[in-house]
Amino acid sequence: MIPEQILHYISGRHVPSLDGRTFGVTDPVTNQVYARAAAGGPADVDAAVMAARIAFEAGPWPHLAARQRAKILNRIADAIESRGAEIAELETFDTGLPVTQAKGQAARAAENYRYFADVIVAQHEEAFSQPGQVGYVLRKPAGVAGLITPWNTPFMLESWKVAPALASGCTVVLKPAEWTPASASLLPEIMTEAGVPEGVFNIVHGIGEEAGAALVAHPGVPLISFTGETTTGQVIMRSAADHLKGLSMELGGKSPCLIFADADLDAAIDSALFGVMSLNGERCTAGSRILAERSVYPALVERLAARAARIVVGPPSDPRTEVGALVHPEHYARVMDYVDIGVKEGARLAAGGARPASLADGNYLAPTVFADVTPKMRIFQEEIFGPVVCVTPFDSEEEAVCLANDTRYGLAAYLWTSDLRRAHRVAAAVESGMTWVNSHNVRDLRTPFGGVKASGLGREGGQHSIDFYTESRIVHVATGDTHVPKFGAS
Ligand code: NAD
Repeated sequence: MIPEQILHYISGRHVPSLDGRTFGVTDPVTNQVYARAAAGGPADVDAAVMAARIAFEAGPWPHLAARQRAKILNRIADAIESRGAEIAELETFDTGLPVTQAKGQAARAAENYRYFADVIVAQHEEAFSQPGQVGYVLRKPAGVAGLITPWNTPFMLESWKVAPALASGCTVVLKPAEWTPASASLLPEIMTEAGVPEGVFNIVHGIGEEAGAALVAHPGVPLISFTGETTTGQVIMRSAADHLKGLSMELGGKSPCLIFADADLDAAIDSALFGVMSLNGERCTAGSRILAERSVYPALVERLAARAARIVVGPPSDPRTEVGALVHPEHYARVMDYVDIGVKEGARLAAGGARPASLADGNYLAPTVFADVTPKMRIFQEEIFGPVVCVTPFDSEEEAVCLANDTRYGLAAYLWTSDLRRAHRVAAAVESGMTWVNSHNVRDLRTPFGGVKASGLGREGGQHSIDFYTESRIVHVATGDTHVPKFGAS
């Protein structure tokens, strides 16, 4: 069940790196190496891109009727659903996510394949008619899609890219995150059994700066969909410029959760805590800055702190666990550094801030609430990506909006108020790609997903994903005599 060896998957075969190199993969509970994974480099990426190109140029995949591809995607979804418990167990072991939440993520992955099967069957194109001419759109898959994914909810985030790429008729080279390669290694069997032809789906494992960078630099890959840190996204954009690649960038966040005094405070507290503490706080859309109207601020801090102190931290495999182990000791050290920074900057530690006494080993942190956080503090500005939340008071709607927008990020925002007019005003004024009003992070798969400012470029989700993985071409046809100026005729 837990693999000891993780290989690339190229042209329908599990293969080691051409130079034999591997890297160690640890689990977040013991921090011991449990598997060695193939460490891909340029030659492995080249082999995978070659396989994907052959499958694209010579294979049936891009030319199949949408219904045919949809049938295969639905079979992938069926397999993920029937193996959901196994996928969740492996994901939990590899990432430290609480198993109940990993189960939800596996179900969501299946839903992504099913959803994009529906989208591609329903796909239709525009036609334009005017006297003497009609135009119609021809949509073609873009080619080999390079997909680079992060370690938080890896299996679900991979499906977020693989499903629309395959639905569109692209072939794929996936580079999973090096800290969490395990669950991706279940995909080859699922794909093959579902009927995905050889070479259509390929995986190259490896370190980002080696395997990921080689995929971005490869001239045979016309588009890269990347999810990860903003700084990595900047490196990728620079490299992709050499070949003018299509880019989709889903990057970091420091999303605000604005709570006005007239809000349903019970619901707001439930949502704010779930939003930042679920998935161990390793969630791009985490509402990691709670902005609270001053009249309710003291009581809110007290209630948030009391609830945070009761969140169940424990082994990821225990179904009672609400916050598990952070993914990797390096990340754990980084999050713990931010806790120190917050204390040194003068923020008030209202809850957590240390390893729970009952958990001597593993990457555990008690859910942490910092109060009296000011915008100048690094913990207000920088993405921590752990179970740590900052709380800041505001006195007016204008100040709330200013605080919300006072970071370089703009991924998500959450807004709690019972004033309808204010809800619409603030939703329009907050700089975020996605805003939820009186609700937590419930996604409708048809809607655009992505961030503004340093949180990303482009949108995925629904039709936006299909637009990314395809090229729309216009064909103009004369339906009558066209007037053409007669150059050189007089
Ligand atoms: P990361 O940027 O370190 O790594 C992401 C992926 O990029 C990994 O597969 C890595 O190997 C690869 N990579 C690293 N350097 C590379 C390079 N030079 N060239 C090509 N590939 C390279 O991010 P992470 O630490 O794995 O993930 C956490 C980050 O992801 C957080 O910032 C989080 O907010 C963000 N995230 C964003 C979204 C979103 O949709 N906006 C979703 C999930 C996570």
